[in-house]
Amino acid sequence: MNIANWLDASARRTPDAPALFYGTELHADYRGFAARARRIGEGLTRAHGISEGDRVAIFLKNCPEVLELIFGIWWIGAVAVPINAKLHAKEVAFILGDSGADLLVSDSGDVGDQAGSTDCPEIALGGVEWQHLIETDDCGGAPLTRGRDDLAWLFYTSGTTGRPKGVMLSHGNLISMSLCYAIDVDQVSSEQTILYPAPMSHGGGLYALPYIRAGARHVVPLSRGFDASEIEQLARHFDETVYFAAPTMIRRQIELSRANGYRGEGIRTIIYGGGPMYSGDLDDALELFGGRFAQIYGQGESPMTITVMSRDMVADEAHPNWRTRRESVGIAQACIEIRIADEDLRDLPSGVPGEILVRGDTVMIGYWQNDAATAEALHDGWLRTGDIGRLDEDGYLTLTDRAKDVIISGGTNIYPREVEEVLVRHPDVVEAAVIGVPDAEWGERIKAFVVVAPDCTTREPELEAWCRSEMASFKKPSLYTFLPELPKNAYGKILKRDLRELG
Ligand code: AMP
Repeated sequence: MNIANWLDASARRTPDAPALFYGTELHADYRGFAARARRIGEGLTRAHGISEGDRVAIFLKNCPEVLELIFGIWWIGAVAVPINAKLHAKEVAFILGDSGADLLVSDSGDVGDQAGSTDCPEIALGGVEWQHLIETDDCGGAPLTRGRDDLAWLFYTSGTTGRPKGVMLSHGNLISMSLCYAIDVDQVSSEQTILYPAPMSHGGGLYALPYIRAGARHVVPLSRGFDASEIEQLARHFDETVYFAAPTMIRRQIELSRANGYRGEGIRTIIYGGGPMYSGDLDDALELFGGRFAQIYGQGESPMTITVMSRDMVADEAHPNWRTRRESVGIAQACIEIRIADEDLRDLPSGVPGEILVRGDTVMIGYWQNDAATAEALHDGWLRTGDIGRLDEDGYLTLTDRAKDVIISGGTNIYPREVEEVLVRHPDVVEAAVIGVPDAEWGERIKAFVVVAPDCTTREPELEAWCRSEMASFKKPSLYTFLPELPKNAYGKILKRDLRELG
């Protein structure tokens, strides 16, 4: 089934129900939302030759049009390629090339120019061509029929190899994801409002699906991002609000609430995940806001979640093991099986840490045009997550480590290898290694260890400028140490362990 049928159904059932808001201002009701999606779909075909299976890339900061565009793309059986709005133009160009995108919709309309050049045609949101799209005749047709395994969402995650990989998610994956959400994460109803403070190119956008099925309201903050006082205002205004927040956002929200006395009025559920939540922060959050928190642990390869803790599970203080449960990432969601395995993929007994393997209906089809990476990640239907954890007797999963060395800063994953590759491209840099160091505000900060050519005076200012010109600013190291050489093992592999000890 085409998941765009959910929008079609809600628009028929409750056409006048308010659907999309920008701040507190109504942007479209369900009739208008579906009509705009149909027009965009039709316009993509007529003006840009897009048809089923073609990829359309979306490089936009959060706005209501993101949802209209995604559904317009799906309406005609095409594939959405969401791109994080914080990426550098050169990084966007890589994704456009790798995905073979036939069109890019961006805020500025000049990403191609900024990147040097791309072969991908580009239109600007709000420009003349966008206007033509939304003014295309509305033929009123139903979404094109799609099968369970037909591609819907091609999401680029950064790989440990440094090159982003396209995670292929089908209409079936997205439907299963949404059904699990409604069973395990939180109940969904038309009375609720979902806010989008986190990037809609990531899980934030996919969260829309169960709420579109329910005919609920969707609100994009005017800041187009996370601003704790704006969230408070919107929650009070709309009531029964739900949103996803990275642990860093929750910390900011708590700081503001301490200062102004806000106790979460108007918030139904804050779903946190994407990075470790320190238990002290969670205790503070529960004390101030009460049982309004649900947790998810997942990855792009199995959205939104692998494991989940509902609001009741997070707030529970009655079970004898409540403290260890609260520090876990919860239990497998309804359609997922988990096992913990050693390096040879043999099962480990409960309580013993090993790699987390998952199987089920939310697991991706594979990586786009990358059979080698797919074969590495998927074994007989089991996805190797690259995360290390242990399962207890009751099925609660606790994460202990990240096999992939990924740095999580402000809830965003930063892959050291990607940053290292940029650093070593600098003509004066001989070697570089990047690690995450603990940081009270961001979770982790990025620290680079750099070896420069002999007699060379290149230091932090030059490398800072270089990184700024080559990659998104959230990936730039904020700390540098210059060394005569990097510690290595007998095979010449850099010992990050030793670097961590250096701090
Ligand atoms: P991404 O594919 O960008 O969503 O990143 C997924 C990775 O983030 C996972 O493989 C974990 O390492 C980490 N992660 C996700 N959710 C959690 C969580 N609830 N607690 C700790 N780490 C998490």
